Amino acid sequence: MPKQSHLHCSFCGRSRDEVKILIAGQEGHICENCVEHAQEIIAQELNIRQENGAAASSSFKLSVRKPAEIKRFLDEYVIGQDDAKKILSVAVYNHYKRITQKQLADDVEIEKSNIIMVGETGTGKTLLAKTIARMLNVPFAIVDATVFTEAGYVGEDVESMLTRLLQNCNYDVAAAERGIVYVDELDKIARKGDNPSITRDVSGEGVQQGLLKMLEGTEVLVPPQGGRKHPEQKMIKVDTKNILFVCGGAFDGIDKVIARRVNTNAIGFNVNKEQQEMQRSNLLQFINAQDLKSFGLIPELLGRLPVVTHLDPLDMETLRSILTEPKNSLIKQYTRLFDMEGVNLVIDEEVLNFMVTKALEYKLGARGLRSICESILTDAMFELPGQGQKELHVTLDYAQRMFNKSKMSLLKVA
Ligand code: ADP
Repeated sequence: MPKQSHLHCSFCGRSRDEVKILIAGQEGHICENCVEHAQEIIAQELNIRQENGAAASSSFKLSVRKPAEIKRFLDEYVIGQDDAKKILSVAVYNHYKRITQKQLADDVEIEKSNIIMVGETGTGKTLLAKTIARMLNVPFAIVDATVFTEAGYVGEDVESMLTRLLQNCNYDVAAAERGIVYVDELDKIARKGDNPSITRDVSGEGVQQGLLKMLEGTEVLVPPQGGRKHPEQKMIKVDTKNILFVCGGAFDGIDKVIARRVNTNAIGFNVNKEQQEMQRSNLLQFINAQDLKSFGLIPELLGRLPVVTHLDPLDMETLRSILTEPKNSLIKQYTRLFDMEGVNLVIDEEVLNFMVTKALEYKLGARGLRSICESILTDAMFELPGQGQKELHVTLDYAQRMFNKSKMSLLKVA
C-alpha cells in the first residue's frame, strides 16, 4: 500500500495534494475532476448510442402475451374491474403487436391505443397499470398530472415525465421508448370553465397541449435529472412514438354529464345513498369521449386517447375480497410479517367485515384498508417481537378496541 503522501489519481496523475477528493479503487484511485469528466463522457456516449439507434445494443427484451393471458395475470392481483381488465389487455396486446410488427409492403399503419381509465380514487387504476407493466417487463413510470404546468411557469414541464421513465430503466433509451407511462389525475388538468381565453390556464389547457404532443409521438428532449433546476444538463432525446400512455382520473361529477347525455337522472330525491352509488357505477359504464370533452378535456387530446374504460366503485364484497384474495393481499402480507417473528396470525371473519365496513364508512376505498389494518395491528407489531408469543388471535373485540384508540378513529366520517 503506498504511503498517504504518494497517493495520486491513476487517471490524470494529480497527487493527493492537488485534488479535493481521491476515491480508492481496488488497485488505483480517481479524483473528483476525473469523475466529473467521466460522467460527461458517459452522457455523450449515451446520446451517440441513442442517435445510432440504440435498440440493437439495448439489453431490453420484450415479452408479449395474449390478451387472455394478460387478463389472467391481472386477475391474480386485481379484484373485479372485468371491463377495464379486458379493454386494457386488448389495448396493451395490440400496442405491443404494433411495435413488434414488421413493416409490410401494404403500409397499413396500426395506430397507438393510449388508454384513459375513469373511476373513483382507490378503485385500482394505478394497480392495473402497474400490474401490466410488471407482467410485460417494460419500464414503467407513474406521474401525477397535477404537478405539470405550461412551459415557463412554476411547476414541472410535461417532458419531465419521461425523466422518471428513463430513471426507472437506468437510462436505457431503447427500453424507455417502449415503456408505459401512467398519468394519474388527468381530470385535474381539465379546462376550467368553457371559456379558456379569459384567464390564463397554465395548469389546464396548456398542459393538455403539452401532453398531446407526447401522446401523438414525437422526439422529446428530456432532462436526465428532471426539473428546470439544472439548465446545464445534457438533454436525452426520447421518441415517444411507441410509449404507451395510460391515463387515469376520478372525474368527479362526470356521472351527471353522462346522465344528461343518456337522459336519466343521476340523483333523484327518493333514492338512498346506496342506490345513488349504484346509479353512478351504472352510469360510468356508458362513459365516452364526448363526456370527457364536456368535462374539459380538449378534443385533440381525446383523439389521442382512443380507448376509454371505467372502473366500478368498490362495494362491500369486493373490498372483502381485496383483503384476502390477491396474490399479495394485505392479510397475506401481515400474516407473512408475523410469521417472520414466529407468530401465527389468526384473524376472525368478523374482523374482516369490520375492516370493510370502516373502509366504506370513511370513503377511503381499498386504500383505506391498509390504514385500518395498521391501526388494528400496530400495537401487536410493536410488542410481540422478542416476546416469544406463538399466536396472535385478532377477535372483533380486540380489533374494535385497537381501532377506537387509534388516531384514525378520531377522523370524522364524512
Ligand atoms: P387508484 O389509482 O384508482 O386511485 P390504486 O390502484 O392506487 O387506486 O389503489 C390503491 C390500493 O388499493 C392499491 O394499492 C391496492 O392495494 C388496492 N386496490 C384498489 N382496487 C383494487 C382492486 N380492484 N383489487 C385489488 N386491490 C385493489
